[in-house]
Amino acid sequence: MLSATTKCAFSTSQHAPAWRHQYEKLANGRCAYFGCAAEFAIGHSHCRKHLARMSKERKKDVQARKRHGLCVDCGERPQFWSLHCIICRQRHVKNPEALPLGVTRALRLYYKAEHQLIIEQSRAKTRFEVRKLLAKGDTNRNQAKALRLYAGIDDGRWRSHAEVGRLMQISRERVRQLLGPYKAILSETPVKTSADNGHNQTKASQAS
Ligand SMILES: [Zn+2]
Ligand SMILES: [Zn+2]
Repeated sequence: MLSATTKCAFSTSQHAPAWRHQYEKLANGRCAYFGCAAEFAIGHSHCRKHLARMSKERKKDVQARKRHGLCVDCGERPQFWSLHCIICRQRHVKNPEALPLGVTRALRLYYKAEHQLIIEQSRAKTRFEVRKLLAKGDTNRNQAKALRLYAGIDDGRWRSHAEVGRLMQISRERVRQLLGPYKAILSETPVKTSADNGHNQTKASQAS
């Protein structure tokens, strides 16, 4: 194949005469492709037609490798967070020591999802407390309405004081006053994560 042209033309292998012929062709300005008499393109060892054919073949190879999840360079090892394998990747990145971009992105998304989960859990807990409060019937009409809107009891949409104010056509400050007595329930204190629980458990076991 073509990569073998990098070998010395006068090597002692049994193919040496064939390669010598190719080098002679190149020296005469001819395409290195077997049996092609066309002139090579400037800066290349093949004619335009054969360059195009090789490029097409290379594209086909790359597509097949991508389909099979193999490195697009060597086609042997699996891809590692990019189109290249862990070995070939070294040649393509500025800092081979740094984590691959895909890993950094995955970690960021993971942390974001975890953070979102904590918020959602906290809101679900707050909604539960608000429902209990509304069931008791201790709240006046406006307070109940503000609570329902703020915690999104009916539509699951958490709202700010300003948003509640707009919907009730009252000031943000008035909303704050209405919700004031329930501050303790409504403050978005993140619920304990499993990590926190584990931490507490170890603390407890140490204490006992
Ligand atoms: Zn050619
Ligand atoms: Zn590779």
